[in-house]
Amino acid sequence: TILDALPDRTGLDRLWHLLPQARLVGGSVRDLLRGVAVNDLDLATPEPPEIVQKILQDADIKVVPTGLSHGTLTAVIDRRPYEVTTLRRDDRTDGRRAVVSWTQDWREDASRRDFTINAMSCDSQGQIHDFFGGQEDLHAHRVRFVGDPARRITEDALRILRFFRFDARFGTETPDLEAMTAIRSKAALVETLSAERVASELLRILIGPRLLQNLAHMREADILSRLLPQAHEHRLARLLACQAPHDALLRLGALSDEENLAQRLRLSNKQAERLASMRIPMPELLPAAPDDDLRRARADLPLESLLDRTWLRQADKLGAPDPSWNALRNRLEKLPRPVFPLAGRDALQCGAPPGPQIGAALKQVQGWWRAEGCRPDRNACLARLKQALGLSPNDAER
Ligand code: ATP
Ligand code: MG
Repeated sequence: TILDALPDRTGLDRLWHLLPQARLVGGSVRDLLRGVAVNDLDLATPEPPEIVQKILQDADIKVVPTGLSHGTLTAVIDRRPYEVTTLRRDDRTDGRRAVVSWTQDWREDASRRDFTINAMSCDSQGQIHDFFGGQEDLHAHRVRFVGDPARRITEDALRILRFFRFDARFGTETPDLEAMTAIRSKAALVETLSAERVASELLRILIGPRLLQNLAHMREADILSRLLPQAHEHRLARLLACQAPHDALLRLGALSDEENLAQRLRLSNKQAERLASMRIPMPELLPAAPDDDLRRARADLPLESLLDRTWLRQADKLGAPDPSWNALRNRLEKLPRPVFPLAGRDALQCGAPPGPQIGAALKQVQGWWRAEGCRPDRNACLARLKQALGLSPNDAER
C-alpha cells in the first residue's frame, strides 16, 4: 500500500492502535499518492476531541491542545508531531471563519475540504477513500474545487489564494476553467480577508513553482491587482532571471514597491524592516565598488539588506546571472561589520563637561570615521574627538 512508502511508521501505528478508525487526511494522502516526501502527518478521526485527548493521554502520549475548539490536537511521539482532528462539518460560515461541529461521516468531512486532491483519506490498512475523484485529478494535474467553486469561495475566500498556490504545484498551464470563472466572479471577496491570512498564503505563493505563470493567472482572474495594486511582474521576472535565492520577501520587494505594504499585510516587524531597507535611498553598490564603499555600506545596513539590495539592483540593471555581482556579494559576506569605536562615555572620560556638544562632537567624528572607510581605530577616533571637543590632545583619560 502507499503506507509502505513512509520511512518510519512506528508513531503512526501506535496512533492507529489506539484510534483504529483514524485516517490520514489532506496533504499527507496527496503527497503519499504522488510518491514524494510527506511533510506533516495529519489524521482525522470520528471520536470527539475530549475522547481523543483522554485515549492518548491514558497511553502516556504527549498531547498539545493546538486547536481544541476546532477539534484539533497534536500528539507528539518520538518528538514527531501528529495532528489529530475530529471529523467536522461546517454548519454556518460568515465568509471568513467556519463554525464547525463534529460528525461521524467521512464524506461530510471530505466535502468541506477545498480541492479534490486534498479531500482524500487513507485508513490504517492503506485503503484510499476518495469521494470526489481526487486520485484521477491528481494524475491529470487538475486542481478542482470540491463542490460548486463559487459557493466554496463564498464560504471562505482564502480558497482563492489556496487555489493558486496548489495549482502552481499540481496543475498545468491551464487552470480549471470552472474555478477560474468562479474566482473572477468572486474576486472582490479577497479584499474582505484578514491581512494575516492573505500574507501567509501570498508568501507561500511567492516561493512556489511556476511563479510568473501563476501570477499571470492571478492577474487574469482579477486577483493580483486587488492584492498588490502596484505589482510589477516584469521586475520580479528580472529578479528570477538573475537566479536570486528562493526568498519570499525578496520576491515581494521586487514585485511591489507599495509604500505601506508591510503595514497593510501586517507583516512581522522583522519582515517590515527588511522590506523598508530594500527601499532606503542610498548610494548603490556596484560590482566595481571600492572596499571603503563596502565597509561604509556594511556599517550602515544589516548584511541581509545589503544582499537584498544587490539582487534588486542586479535585476534592474542586468536581469541576468552575472559572476561579478556574485563576487560583490561574496565580498560583502566576508567583510566583518565595522562598528564605530566610540560612545558618549568616552567624551566624558576625556574630561568634556556633560552637555549637548558631546553628541554633536561624536556625530562629527563618526562622519569622519565613515568618510575614512570606517578604518580609523579607537585611538585615532579619540584624538579626533578631543579635537572636536576643543580639548588638548594630551588631556589624559581620567
Ligand atoms: P501543504 O503540504 O502545503 O501543507 P496541505 O494540503 O497539508 O498542503 P494545509 O494548508 O496544511 O495544506 O491544509 C491541510 C488540509 O486542510 C488541506 O489538505 C485541506 O484538506 C484542508 N484545508 C485547509 N485549509 C482549508 C480551507 N481554507 N478550506 C477548505 N479546506 C482547507
Ligand atoms: Mg499541511
